[in-house]
Amino acid sequence: MAIILRSPFYRGTYRYNYRDESDTTFSFKGQQDWILCEKHHPPLFSDADCKQIDFWLKKNRRQHGKATHTQRKLVHIFAGLIRCGACGSNYIASISRARASGYRPSMYLCGGRRRSGTCKNRFVNDILVGNFVFNYISNMIRLRSAFRPRWTAARIQKFLLEGDVFAGVAPSTDTVRRVRAVLLASGSGTVKYQPSGEARVSTAAQARKKNLQAELEKNRRALSRLMHLFLYAEEEMSQVDFLREKHRLHDNITRLQGDIEKEQQASIFASSLTDEEFLQKAARLLFQDAMAHGNIDFPTLAMRVGNLELKKFVNAVVEQIVVLDGHITQITFANGETHTFLYQ
Ligand SMILES: [Zn+2]
Repeated sequence: MAIILRSPFYRGTYRYNYRDESDTTFSFKGQQDWILCEKHHPPLFSDADCKQIDFWLKKNRRQHGKATHTQRKLVHIFAGLIRCGACGSNYIASISRARASGYRPSMYLCGGRRRSGTCKNRFVNDILVGNFVFNYISNMIRLRSAFRPRWTAARIQKFLLEGDVFAGVAPSTDTVRRVRAVLLASGSGTVKYQPSGEARVSTAAQARKKNLQAELEKNRRALSRLMHLFLYAEEEMSQVDFLREKHRLHDNITRLQGDIEKEQQASIFASSLTDEEFLQKAARLLFQDAMAHGNIDFPTLAMRVGNLELKKFVNAVVEQIVVLDGHITQITFANGETHTFLYQ
């Protein structure tokens, strides 16, 4: 796709003498030797279109290194999510050495420390962060089905931090209190407890999502009608009109897709821990047995599931992870809910 978008041919320019045929291998001559005939044939893209295409190709290249890439080889699962608890800088990802098992974790270092050397905060790696975050989420999911309204804060706390990775860790009192409130509100356990306010909120969210989806479909149909008109209508449509309308519909579609995504993310935790979508995502990645038993060994999980899938999951659920002195001190979830951890 990027090749078509970039090619001068589709912009009406015929380019020749750019392939070096003196060599047996396929290569290009230097750009100064190319002969370009502009306006050689009617372009597929207008000048304005080309400007926009170039803008996006350049933007993508900046974001991904290279626009023509198929898939990046290295996926740093927690890249962009880790923040320094000492100086507030973002952590920067790089690859660590391979372990005996063949597993190669990413490591993350404070950007402030790397830039100026003033911050003394320690680095962390996938093994530490992954074990903590994935076991914590697994515990939260299992807590949801095990929870009974009579449970004390101490019991909830014990459940949340079950597993060797949590030795010496305690959640803040406020964190436990809020988890308990969410569990009670979600009506888990034997006793049905559903405040009417909560139910109304989730119905309103569902209606909002449905409206957005309908709007998205409408714009998609309009776009397909427009393309059909442009290609087959007897009365010729001006290219300017077509492009203007096409851009408008494209913008609408992008905006609506963004809104729907936001709506879905908001519901992952906010509506309650009973959210089906969240559970489906989790089930696919953490596996039924891992969720049922906890005690996830992150390197094994990463090698089995692949970094890309784990990254997608983490990006959908987690907003930010704060680290200090080689410990995770805070996790903020996609709905803005922050869980704080204390160390003895
Ligand atoms: Zn720092």
